Amino acid sequence: MHSRRTRRTFLQKTGALLGGLALSGAPVATLADTQGIQRRTPPPPGMNPFGVALVGLGNYATNQLAPALQETERCRLTGIVTGTPAKADKWMAEYNIPEQNVYNYETFDRIADNPDIDIVYVVLPNSMHAEYAIRAAEAGKQVITEKPMATSVRDCERMIEACDQAGVKLSVGYRLHFEPHHQEIMRLGQEQVFGPVTVVEASFSFTSRNTDAWRFSKEMAGGGALLDVGVYAIQGARYTIGEEPVRVRASGYNTRPDIFTEIYETILWEMEFPGGAVSSHSTSYSANVNRLYMMAPRGWARIEPAFMYNSVSGETNEGPMGYPHVTQQALQMDDFARCITEDETSRVSGEEGLKDMQVIEAIYRSIDRNGRWVEV
Ligand code: NAD
Repeated sequence: MHSRRTRRTFLQKTGALLGGLALSGAPVATLADTQGIQRRTPPPPGMNPFGVALVGLGNYATNQLAPALQETERCRLTGIVTGTPAKADKWMAEYNIPEQNVYNYETFDRIADNPDIDIVYVVLPNSMHAEYAIRAAEAGKQVITEKPMATSVRDCERMIEACDQAGVKLSVGYRLHFEPHHQEIMRLGQEQVFGPVTVVEASFSFTSRNTDAWRFSKEMAGGGALLDVGVYAIQGARYTIGEEPVRVRASGYNTRPDIFTEIYETILWEMEFPGGAVSSHSTSYSANVNRLYMMAPRGWARIEPAFMYNSVSGETNEGPMGYPHVTQQALQMDDFARCITEDETSRVSGEEGLKDMQVIEAIYRSIDRNGRWVEV
């Protein structure tokens, strides 16, 4: 296992080491902290946790976010927004949510009058993120939206503007910024521990069997695997290299045009960074790959599987990273709550989501131009 000492400095610099010492004395040790990896600042004494309303009670809200909200220290699940009354009954019983904190898509705006709800977390199909994030901001609520932030650069900008105007914070559900293997690869790359990063290879694909779902509709999803999971590969390259890509080239493939009628089945792309690093990527709904690989003159790091909730694993040329499991979503939401309390911009802010969407739009432009290099 490699040195932790320098890692601590990096985490302090990036804010990933959730110190906040001034507020409440020594931070509480978490499991990860016992290995010098991750700290979560305890809530200020007597803090009333922020109330979170989940909008859209699908797979991710049900199986990841609601359970994670049972582990958070600075926020808790107090409300839901759903179009399905049977789901409302089930959630009210399971999570002790009072009826006055249950909304549907028509009554949603009345959330403005509900003091039990401070944060609205949008977990809807991609094309609906912008509308509900903006309505939440207009209701005066702090906003988290799932990835991809939206389906166009223009919508990302509108969301940022709406939150700025309302004086609320906006963040994107980029949970991996709170995962220790990913924090370590950020440090190794950005601090050039093995020399300046030369190549990043990052790919995320899975075999999707649910081919009639919204993810296969261009209108609802905004694109295919690229927006859904390819965005993690874009993120991985950006945060490992610590720079913004300047140009990309890409190609799209479709071996099953009967199923993939509106979206590409597979996209391959490359990115060039201002410091000279390059990155290479693939994303597909017909393959299984899940890795983030960093190469530099004096060493390498590989996280594989990289983008999972539970089974992230990594090594470098010096040995296994060996970090323990963390509940990424709980750390992500608690950090957003901390940012509200301390009036800080989230490290997974709307601007982060916007930058990824700028890359995504450039990738589609390159595909339309037969794979020519295009500026981001
Ligand atoms: P899902 O299909 O399981 O859930 C979507 C929810 O939206 C459902 O409850 C559905 O009823 C509701 N909905 C409301 N209006 C709808 C409409 N017009 N059409 C379709 N559904 C409608 O999807 P999911 O997997 O939970 O994904 C939701 C969002 O969360 C997506 O943006 C996705 O990218 C994101 N997500 C993020 C992660 C992550 O690791 N951060 C993981 C999975 C999903």
